[in-house]
Amino acid sequence: MEDWKTAASAATTSSLPPQVVISPCAACKILRRRCVEKCTLAPYFPPTEPLKFAVAHRVFGASNIIKLLQGVPESQRADAVDSMVYEANARMRDPVYGCAGAICQLQKQIIELQTELAKAEAQILNMKSQKMINFAETLQYQESIIQQQPFDNSSSFFFDADNVGLDNWEPSWK
Ligand SMILES: [Zn+2]
Repeated sequence: MEDWKTAASAATTSSLPPQVVISPCAACKILRRRCVEKCTLAPYFPPTEPLKFAVAHRVFGASNIIKLLQGVPESQRADAVDSMVYEANARMRDPVYGCAGAICQLQKQIIELQTELAKAEAQILNMKSQKMINFAETLQYQESIIQQQPFDNSSSFFFDADNVGLDNWEPSWK
């Protein structure tokens, strides 16, 4: 009793966090069993996240979770637990389809968004070609004005003189 008291006061006065986890892991707490030092579930179900194990246990059962973890290399166990917890949550939300329901929903969303994107791209192409047509029409209009200018302009004799000059030049090129 005395030793425990001194150890407790030493732990509270120490600036370092206590090395030993006082409470059992979330899994052992829910299963009402003693959490041993080499508890398979302890690294993945800390006492701070009790819901994580509760959900996985409700859907898969503790023995299946342990069996599955024992068949997986230690380096992949954290991912396996994340996957199981995710699947368990999905199955709680949608008992019939679970994760498959979410995947179907997302695939539907992808198709809808792809259709929307294709429509937007078609609209952009349409607007671009319309812009090209407008530009070509403006060019044609400007060209027609330039062609009309020598006849409308009061200084048309300059152009006439040039034309005469060009007419004289052209045959020498050919
Ligand atoms: Zn444990």
